[in-house]
Amino acid sequence: MTALTPRPGIMKIAPYVPGKDSVDGKETIAKLSSNEGALGPSPKAMAAYAKAAAELHRYPDGNTEKLRGAIGRHYGLDPARIVCGAGSDELLNLLIRAYCGPGDELLYSQFGFLMYPINALGVGATPVAAPETDYRADVDALLSKVTNKTRVVCLANPNNPTGSYVTKDDVRRLHAALPKNVLLVIDAAYAEYVSRNDYESGVELVDQAENVVMTRTFSKIYGLGGLRLGWMYGPAGIVDVMSRLRQPFNVNLPAQIAGIAALQDIAHTDASRTNNDIWLPWLSAELAKLGLKPLPSVGNFLTVGLGSKERAAAANDWMMNDGLIPRMIAGYGLPEHLRITIGTETEVKAVRDSLAKFVAAVK
Ligand SMILES: *Cc1c(COP(=O)(O)O)cnc(C)c1O
Repeated sequence: MTALTPRPGIMKIAPYVPGKDSVDGKETIAKLSSNEGALGPSPKAMAAYAKAAAELHRYPDGNTEKLRGAIGRHYGLDPARIVCGAGSDELLNLLIRAYCGPGDELLYSQFGFLMYPINALGVGATPVAAPETDYRADVDALLSKVTNKTRVVCLANPNNPTGSYVTKDDVRRLHAALPKNVLLVIDAAYAEYVSRNDYESGVELVDQAENVVMTRTFSKIYGLGGLRLGWMYGPAGIVDVMSRLRQPFNVNLPAQIAGIAALQDIAHTDASRTNNDIWLPWLSAELAKLGLKPLPSVGNFLTVGLGSKERAAAANDWMMNDGLIPRMIAGYGLPEHLRITIGTETEVKAVRDSLAKFVAAVK
Protein backbone atom coordinates (compact mmCIF):
# COMPACT_ATOMS: atom_id res chain seq x y z
CA MET A 1 0.00 0.00 0.00
CA THR A 2 1.19 3.49 -0.80
CA ALA A 3 -0.12 6.71 0.64
CA LEU A 4 0.35 8.37 -2.75
CA THR A 5 -2.83 8.78 -4.76
CA PRO A 6 -2.96 10.50 -8.13
CA ARG A 7 -5.73 13.05 -8.68
CA PRO A 8 -9.20 11.71 -9.43
CA GLY A 9 -9.65 10.62 -13.04
CA ILE A 10 -6.05 9.71 -13.81
CA MET A 11 -6.38 6.01 -12.94
CA LYS A 12 -9.43 5.83 -15.23
CA ILE A 13 -7.26 6.63 -18.25
CA ALA A 14 -6.58 3.71 -20.56
CA PRO A 15 -3.10 4.70 -21.81
CA TYR A 16 -2.97 5.67 -25.49
CA VAL A 17 -1.58 2.78 -27.54
CA PRO A 18 0.43 4.04 -30.55
CA GLY A 19 0.44 2.17 -33.84
CA LYS A 20 2.86 -0.76 -33.99
CA ASP A 21 6.11 -0.08 -35.82
CA SER A 22 7.53 -3.53 -36.45
CA VAL A 23 6.59 -7.18 -36.83
CA ASP A 24 8.53 -9.72 -34.78
CA GLY A 25 10.83 -11.78 -36.97
CA LYS A 26 9.68 -10.10 -40.18
CA GLU A 27 11.05 -7.42 -42.39
CA THR A 28 8.69 -4.44 -42.30
CA ILE A 29 7.52 -3.70 -45.81
CA ALA A 30 5.29 -0.78 -44.82
CA LYS A 31 4.28 0.85 -41.54
CA LEU A 32 0.72 1.93 -42.17
CA SER A 33 -0.39 2.32 -38.57
CA SER A 34 0.06 6.03 -37.77
CA ASN A 35 -0.95 8.08 -40.86
CA GLU A 36 2.55 9.49 -41.10
CA GLY A 37 2.57 10.83 -44.66
CA ALA A 38 3.32 8.52 -47.57
CA LEU A 39 6.34 10.35 -48.97
CA GLY A 40 8.18 11.00 -45.71
CA PRO A 41 9.66 14.39 -44.85
CA SER A 42 10.65 16.96 -47.45
CA PRO A 43 14.34 16.69 -48.44
CA LYS A 44 14.54 20.43 -47.66
CA ALA A 45 13.25 19.79 -44.13
CA MET A 46 15.80 16.99 -43.68
CA ALA A 47 18.64 19.30 -44.79
CA ALA A 48 17.46 22.04 -42.41
CA TYR A 49 17.25 19.51 -39.58
CA ALA A 50 20.80 18.29 -40.25
CA LYS A 51 22.09 21.88 -40.28
CA ALA A 52 20.48 22.50 -36.89
CA ALA A 53 22.84 19.94 -35.32
CA ALA A 54 25.61 22.51 -34.84
CA GLU A 55 23.22 24.79 -32.91
CA LEU A 56 21.89 22.23 -30.44
CA HIS A 57 23.50 23.97 -27.47
CA ARG A 58 21.16 26.93 -28.07
CA TYR A 59 17.72 27.19 -26.55
CA PRO A 60 15.07 27.44 -29.23
CA ASP A 61 13.20 30.69 -29.82
CA GLY A 62 10.63 30.54 -27.02
CA ASN A 63 8.33 32.73 -29.06
CA THR A 64 8.59 30.70 -32.32
CA GLU A 65 8.71 34.04 -34.14
CA LYS A 66 10.05 32.86 -37.52
CA LEU A 67 7.99 29.68 -37.54
CA ARG A 68 4.76 31.53 -36.77
CA GLY A 69 5.65 34.04 -39.48
CA ALA A 70 6.16 31.22 -41.97
CA ILE A 71 2.89 29.51 -41.00
CA GLY A 72 1.09 32.86 -41.20
CA ARG A 73 2.44 33.57 -44.70
CA HIS A 74 1.73 30.07 -45.93
CA TYR A 75 -1.86 29.92 -44.69
CA GLY A 76 -2.70 33.64 -44.90
CA LEU A 77 -3.12 34.05 -41.12
CA ASP A 78 -2.05 36.65 -38.54
CA PRO A 79 1.06 35.17 -36.81
CA ALA A 80 0.04 36.92 -33.57
CA ARG A 81 -2.91 34.54 -33.35
CA ILE A 82 -0.88 31.37 -33.91
CA VAL A 83 0.52 29.28 -31.04
CA CYS A 84 3.00 26.47 -31.77
CA GLY A 85 3.31 23.32 -29.73
CA ALA A 86 5.07 19.97 -29.39
CA GLY A 87 2.60 18.33 -31.74
CA SER A 88 -1.05 19.30 -31.76
CA ASP A 89 -1.35 16.79 -28.89
CA GLU A 90 0.34 19.30 -26.60
CA LEU A 91 -1.98 22.10 -27.69
CA LEU A 92 -5.08 19.93 -27.17
CA ASN A 93 -3.78 19.06 -23.71
CA LEU A 94 -3.18 22.73 -22.85
CA LEU A 95 -6.56 23.85 -24.17
CA ILE A 96 -8.33 21.23 -22.09
CA ARG A 97 -6.27 22.08 -19.00
CA ALA A 98 -7.05 25.77 -19.47
CA TYR A 99 -10.79 25.45 -19.92
CA CYS A 100 -11.84 22.22 -18.21
CA GLY A 101 -11.48 20.95 -14.66
CA PRO A 102 -13.02 18.72 -11.98
CA GLY A 103 -16.79 18.49 -12.34
CA ASP A 104 -16.78 19.87 -15.89
CA GLU A 105 -17.72 17.94 -19.01
CA LEU A 106 -15.80 17.59 -22.26
CA LEU A 107 -18.01 16.64 -25.16
CA TYR A 108 -16.78 14.70 -28.18
CA SER A 109 -18.10 12.34 -30.79
CA GLN A 110 -18.43 8.55 -30.31
CA PHE A 111 -15.55 7.54 -32.59
CA GLY A 112 -13.62 10.79 -32.04
CA PHE A 113 -9.87 10.97 -31.46
CA LEU A 114 -8.95 9.26 -28.16
CA MET A 115 -6.76 12.06 -26.88
CA TYR A 116 -9.90 14.10 -26.03
CA PRO A 117 -11.30 11.74 -23.36
CA ILE A 118 -7.76 10.96 -22.16
CA ASN A 119 -7.04 14.65 -21.56
CA ALA A 120 -10.46 15.21 -19.99
CA LEU A 121 -9.84 12.46 -17.43
CA GLY A 122 -6.37 13.87 -16.81
CA VAL A 123 -7.84 17.13 -15.51
CA GLY A 124 -10.59 15.42 -13.52
CA ALA A 125 -13.32 16.31 -16.01
CA THR A 126 -15.92 13.90 -17.39
CA PRO A 127 -15.66 12.91 -21.05
CA VAL A 128 -19.11 12.69 -22.66
CA ALA A 129 -19.45 10.94 -26.03
CA ALA A 130 -22.33 11.70 -28.41
CA PRO A 131 -23.42 8.85 -30.72
CA GLU A 132 -22.47 9.04 -34.39
CA THR A 133 -24.62 8.34 -37.42
CA ASP A 134 -22.96 6.27 -40.16
CA TYR A 135 -19.53 6.78 -38.56
CA ARG A 136 -19.87 10.55 -38.81
CA ALA A 137 -20.14 13.13 -36.01
CA ASP A 138 -23.83 14.03 -35.61
CA VAL A 139 -24.36 17.70 -34.78
CA ASP A 140 -27.82 17.15 -33.29
CA ALA A 141 -26.57 14.30 -31.10
CA LEU A 142 -23.68 16.48 -29.90
CA LEU A 143 -26.02 19.38 -29.13
CA SER A 144 -28.40 17.12 -27.23
CA LYS A 145 -25.53 16.22 -24.86
CA VAL A 146 -24.66 19.83 -23.99
CA THR A 147 -25.36 20.57 -20.31
CA ASN A 148 -24.51 23.46 -18.01
CA LYS A 149 -21.34 21.53 -17.13
CA THR A 150 -20.06 21.37 -20.73
CA ARG A 151 -16.90 23.46 -21.07
CA VAL A 152 -15.15 22.12 -24.18
CA VAL A 153 -16.37 20.42 -27.36
CA CYS A 154 -13.67 18.64 -29.40
CA LEU A 155 -14.36 17.84 -33.03
CA ALA A 156 -11.76 16.18 -35.24
CA ASN A 157 -12.55 17.32 -38.76
CA PRO A 158 -11.77 15.14 -40.66
CA ASN A 159 -11.99 12.55 -37.91
CA ASN A 160 -9.43 9.88 -37.12
CA PRO A 161 -10.08 6.91 -37.23
CA THR A 162 -13.29 7.07 -39.31
CA GLY A 163 -12.04 9.41 -42.08
CA SER A 164 -15.39 11.22 -42.19
CA TYR A 165 -15.87 14.98 -42.08
CA VAL A 166 -18.53 17.42 -40.99
CA THR A 167 -19.55 20.04 -43.56
CA LYS A 168 -18.83 23.71 -43.10
CA ASP A 169 -22.56 24.41 -42.63
CA ASP A 170 -22.89 21.72 -39.96
CA VAL A 171 -19.84 22.98 -38.03
CA ARG A 172 -21.42 26.45 -38.11
CA ARG A 173 -24.72 25.05 -36.90
CA LEU A 174 -22.93 23.27 -34.04
CA HIS A 175 -21.10 26.44 -33.04
CA ALA A 176 -24.17 28.67 -33.31
CA ALA A 177 -26.10 26.50 -30.85
CA LEU A 178 -23.31 26.24 -28.26
CA PRO A 179 -23.37 28.54 -25.22
CA LYS A 180 -20.75 31.31 -25.51
CA ASN A 181 -18.84 29.97 -22.50
CA VAL A 182 -18.13 26.65 -24.24
CA LEU A 183 -14.90 26.31 -26.22
CA LEU A 184 -15.16 24.58 -29.61
CA VAL A 185 -11.87 22.92 -30.59
CA ILE A 186 -11.69 22.00 -34.27
CA ASP A 187 -8.85 19.50 -34.73
CA ALA A 188 -7.98 19.74 -38.42
CA ALA A 189 -4.93 17.43 -38.45
CA TYR A 190 -5.83 16.17 -41.94
CA ALA A 191 -7.11 19.45 -43.45
CA GLU A 192 -4.39 19.57 -46.13
CA TYR A 193 -5.72 16.37 -47.68
CA VAL A 194 -9.33 17.53 -48.05
CA SER A 195 -10.54 18.97 -51.35
CA ARG A 196 -14.33 19.02 -50.81
CA ASN A 197 -16.20 22.26 -51.58
CA ASP A 198 -18.38 21.94 -48.49
CA TYR A 199 -15.40 21.56 -46.10
CA GLU A 200 -13.74 24.37 -44.15
CA SER A 201 -10.78 23.78 -41.86
CA GLY A 202 -11.99 26.15 -39.13
CA VAL A 203 -10.18 29.39 -40.03
CA GLU A 204 -13.37 31.22 -41.04
CA LEU A 205 -15.16 30.29 -37.84
CA VAL A 206 -12.18 31.25 -35.66
CA ASP A 207 -12.22 34.66 -37.36
CA GLN A 208 -15.86 35.21 -36.44
CA ALA A 209 -16.04 33.89 -32.89
CA GLU A 210 -14.29 34.20 -29.56
CA ASN A 211 -14.83 30.62 -28.45
CA VAL A 212 -13.38 28.62 -31.36
CA VAL A 213 -9.83 27.38 -32.03
CA MET A 214 -8.39 25.26 -34.83
CA THR A 215 -5.43 22.92 -34.25
CA ARG A 216 -3.10 21.71 -37.02
CA THR A 217 -0.07 19.46 -37.28
CA PHE A 218 3.18 18.86 -39.16
CA SER A 219 2.86 15.12 -38.41
CA LYS A 220 0.63 14.13 -41.32
CA ILE A 221 1.05 15.68 -44.78
CA TYR A 222 4.42 17.25 -43.82
CA GLY A 223 5.78 13.93 -42.55
CA LEU A 224 7.43 15.38 -39.42
CA GLY A 225 5.74 13.33 -36.68
CA GLY A 226 9.11 12.46 -35.14
CA LEU A 227 9.88 16.13 -34.49
CA ARG A 228 6.59 16.86 -32.65
CA LEU A 229 5.29 20.05 -34.20
CA GLY A 230 1.77 21.43 -34.25
CA TRP A 231 0.06 24.81 -34.14
CA MET A 232 -3.24 26.40 -33.34
CA TYR A 233 -5.06 29.44 -34.65
CA GLY A 234 -7.38 31.20 -32.29
CA PRO A 235 -8.81 34.44 -30.99
CA ALA A 236 -6.43 36.78 -29.11
CA GLY A 237 -7.96 35.92 -25.73
CA ILE A 238 -7.24 32.20 -26.07
CA VAL A 239 -3.76 32.85 -27.52
CA ASP A 240 -3.03 34.89 -24.38
CA VAL A 241 -4.21 32.04 -22.12
CA MET A 242 -2.05 29.55 -24.00
CA SER A 243 1.04 31.73 -23.79
CA ARG A 244 0.67 31.80 -19.99
CA LEU A 245 0.18 28.07 -19.63
CA ARG A 246 2.64 26.57 -22.11
CA GLN A 247 6.25 25.73 -21.30
CA PRO A 248 8.58 28.55 -22.37
CA PHE A 249 10.55 26.36 -24.83
CA ASN A 250 7.86 23.89 -25.86
CA VAL A 251 8.93 23.68 -29.52
CA ASN A 252 12.45 22.34 -29.97
CA LEU A 253 15.01 24.03 -32.19
CA PRO A 254 15.26 21.46 -35.04
CA ALA A 255 11.45 21.29 -35.21
CA GLN A 256 11.21 25.05 -35.70
CA ILE A 257 13.86 25.07 -38.45
CA ALA A 258 12.62 21.96 -40.26
CA GLY A 259 9.01 23.13 -40.03
CA ILE A 260 9.82 26.35 -41.89
CA ALA A 261 11.68 24.39 -44.61
CA ALA A 262 8.78 21.93 -44.93
CA LEU A 263 6.32 24.78 -45.51
CA GLN A 264 8.56 26.18 -48.25
CA ASP A 265 8.74 22.86 -50.12
CA ILE A 266 5.42 23.27 -51.88
CA ALA A 267 6.34 20.69 -54.55
CA HIS A 268 6.80 18.01 -51.88
CA THR A 269 3.49 18.82 -50.18
CA ASP A 270 1.74 18.80 -53.55
CA ALA A 271 3.28 15.43 -54.39
CA SER A 272 2.06 14.03 -51.05
CA ARG A 273 -1.45 15.29 -51.71
CA THR A 274 -1.44 13.95 -55.27
CA ASN A 275 -0.26 10.54 -54.04
CA ASN A 276 -3.23 10.47 -51.68
CA ASP A 277 -5.69 11.72 -54.31
CA ILE A 278 -4.70 8.79 -56.52
CA TRP A 279 -4.24 5.91 -54.08
CA LEU A 280 -6.97 6.56 -51.52
CA PRO A 281 -9.82 6.10 -54.03
CA TRP A 282 -7.91 3.26 -55.70
CA LEU A 283 -7.46 1.27 -52.49
CA SER A 284 -11.03 2.00 -51.41
CA ALA A 285 -12.40 0.63 -54.72
CA GLU A 286 -10.10 -2.42 -54.63
CA LEU A 287 -11.07 -3.35 -51.07
CA ALA A 288 -14.76 -2.93 -51.88
CA LYS A 289 -14.27 -5.33 -54.84
CA LEU A 290 -12.93 -7.86 -52.33
CA GLY A 291 -16.21 -7.58 -50.42
CA LEU A 292 -14.68 -5.55 -47.58
CA LYS A 293 -16.32 -2.37 -46.29
CA PRO A 294 -14.08 0.70 -46.53
CA LEU A 295 -15.63 3.78 -44.85
CA PRO A 296 -15.64 6.89 -47.06
CA SER A 297 -12.47 8.81 -46.10
CA VAL A 298 -11.11 12.28 -46.83
CA GLY A 299 -7.92 11.73 -44.80
CA ASN A 300 -4.70 9.88 -45.68
CA PHE A 301 -6.03 6.60 -44.36
CA LEU A 302 -8.81 4.13 -44.91
CA THR A 303 -10.80 2.39 -42.19
CA VAL A 304 -12.15 -0.86 -43.47
CA GLY A 305 -14.84 -3.11 -42.03
CA LEU A 306 -14.06 -6.84 -41.93
CA GLY A 307 -17.49 -7.98 -40.72
CA SER A 308 -16.49 -9.30 -37.28
CA LYS A 309 -13.83 -8.66 -34.70
CA GLU A 310 -12.38 -12.13 -35.20
CA ARG A 311 -11.99 -11.50 -38.92
CA ALA A 312 -10.48 -8.05 -38.28
CA ALA A 313 -7.90 -9.61 -35.94
CA ALA A 314 -7.17 -12.34 -38.48
CA ALA A 315 -6.72 -9.79 -41.28
CA ASN A 316 -4.41 -7.80 -39.02
CA ASP A 317 -2.27 -10.90 -38.38
CA TRP A 318 -2.30 -11.78 -42.08
CA MET A 319 -1.07 -8.35 -43.12
CA MET A 320 1.55 -8.33 -40.35
CA ASN A 321 2.78 -11.66 -41.63
CA ASP A 322 3.26 -9.96 -45.01
CA GLY A 323 5.28 -7.19 -43.34
CA LEU A 324 2.42 -4.67 -43.59
CA ILE A 325 1.39 -2.95 -40.37
CA PRO A 326 -2.22 -1.74 -40.10
CA ARG A 327 -3.87 -0.36 -36.97
CA MET A 328 -6.37 -2.25 -34.85
CA ILE A 329 -8.91 0.23 -33.54
CA ALA A 330 -10.88 -1.75 -30.96
CA GLY A 331 -9.84 0.98 -28.48
CA TYR A 332 -12.07 3.33 -30.46
CA GLY A 333 -15.02 0.96 -30.21
CA LEU A 334 -14.36 -0.30 -33.75
CA PRO A 335 -13.18 -3.89 -33.18
CA GLU A 336 -14.50 -5.04 -36.57
CA HIS A 337 -12.40 -2.49 -38.47
CA LEU A 338 -8.75 -1.94 -39.36
CA ARG A 339 -7.26 1.44 -40.16
CA ILE A 340 -4.72 1.51 -42.98
CA THR A 341 -2.58 4.55 -43.89
CA ILE A 342 -2.38 5.35 -47.60
CA GLY A 343 1.25 4.72 -48.53
CA THR A 344 3.10 4.82 -51.82
CA GLU A 345 1.91 2.98 -54.95
CA THR A 346 4.04 -0.05 -54.03
CA GLU A 347 2.65 -0.08 -50.49
CA VAL A 348 -1.04 0.25 -51.35
CA LYS A 349 -0.67 -2.45 -54.00
CA ALA A 350 0.96 -4.71 -51.42
CA VAL A 351 -2.02 -4.06 -49.11
CA ARG A 352 -4.48 -4.97 -51.85
CA ASP A 353 -2.56 -8.16 -52.71
CA SER A 354 -2.26 -9.19 -49.07
CA LEU A 355 -5.97 -8.66 -48.36
CA ALA A 356 -6.96 -10.37 -51.63
CA LYS A 357 -5.08 -13.47 -50.50
CA PHE A 358 -6.63 -13.16 -47.04
CA VAL A 359 -10.16 -12.99 -48.44
CA ALA A 360 -9.47 -16.01 -50.68
CA ALA A 361 -8.01 -18.03 -47.82
CA VAL A 362 -10.17 -17.00 -44.85
CA LYS A 363 -13.91 -16.96 -45.44
C1 LIG B 1 -2.42 12.55 -35.70
C2 LIG B 1 -3.51 13.36 -35.08
C3 LIG B 1 -3.25 14.46 -34.26
C4 LIG B 1 -1.94 14.89 -33.83
O1 LIG B 1 -0.89 14.80 -33.92
P1 LIG B 1 0.44 15.48 -33.42
O2 LIG B 1 1.46 14.58 -33.95
O3 LIG B 1 0.38 15.54 -31.93
O4 LIG B 1 0.42 16.85 -34.03
C5 LIG B 1 -4.28 15.20 -33.75
N1 LIG B 1 -5.55 14.88 -34.05
C6 LIG B 1 -5.85 13.86 -34.83
C7 LIG B 1 -7.27 13.60 -35.13
C8 LIG B 1 -4.84 13.05 -35.35
O5 LIG B 1 -5.16 11.99 -36.11
